[in-house]
Amino acid sequence: MQIIRDIATLHRAVSALKQGGKSVVLVPTMGALHAGHLSLVRMARRVADHVVVSIFVNPTQFGPNEDFVAYPRDEARDAALLVEEKTALLWAPDVATMYPTGHGTHIEVAELGADYCGAARPGHFDGVATVVAKLFNQVRPDVAIFGEKDWQQLAIIRRMARDLDFGVDILGAPIARDADGLALSSRNAYLSPEQRAAATAFPNALKAAAAAIASGADVGEALAKTEAAIVAGGFDSVDYVALADADSLERLNVWRAPARLLAAARIGKTRLIDNLPVK
Ligand code: AMP
Repeated sequence: MQIIRDIATLHRAVSALKQGGKSVVLVPTMGALHAGHLSLVRMARRVADHVVVSIFVNPTQFGPNEDFVAYPRDEARDAALLVEEKTALLWAPDVATMYPTGHGTHIEVAELGADYCGAARPGHFDGVATVVAKLFNQVRPDVAIFGEKDWQQLAIIRRMARDLDFGVDILGAPIARDADGLALSSRNAYLSPEQRAAATAFPNALKAAAAAIASGADVGEALAKTEAAIVAGGFDSVDYVALADADSLERLNVWRAPARLLAAARIGKTRLIDNLPVK
């Protein structure tokens, strides 16, 4: 696996990978890789000839009081995992390469980015959209894979790729979970053993809500019960629990297909997100 940190070398390496009409798939990450990330890499191997993974902890998607500095980083461990998964190239630029002095262009995906995590984390999705646009232009992949774990992010990237004619196929990968149902996340590493044990209340409450709504329960009541169950389970607060149109992300007071339950909640200093389909 090549580990590359500058754009000129990256362009040469990707051109070499593409020789003979071979396809390239990009899996963008912020590192601290877990089995969820590796499931994306495995899916990537099935959809294209060569897998490129990027690791970049993107400062512009963190708010001023968020965990940019504390975010877990262990590139050597990540690289060893990616070698095992037959990754062709690891793109690992530093902040100065990604944002040279004077960088001033930003992408905002209106509407889709306003509610949910966008409301709780102002500027977050502008940071995500801008860095993903840059990653697409840097790597020029045929396909890119994002996890359904970040459902709003996936919707925003799909819209951006379409709006700006990137010509990159965007694929969503299913959420990888621990045995007790908690969605895998690099941020789970922040949880104390007690918090980790309590955290299972979050997916459990969402599962119960999805089942209740699917069997005809009132949406407003089901959402209120879910918030209460998450807090009763040991969470300090709930940013949002909402039923949304799975594509437009419009809030739904009455179920209609395709619907997705979206949620974010805080336990101690850690903010967790999750989502489920409601069929
Ligand atoms: P991150 O490193 O947190 O930015 O995540 C990189 C990519 O992995 C994103 O597309 C995430 O949606 C995806 N991802 C993170 N956790 C999971 C998970 N538990 N299951 C599936 N995909 C995930």
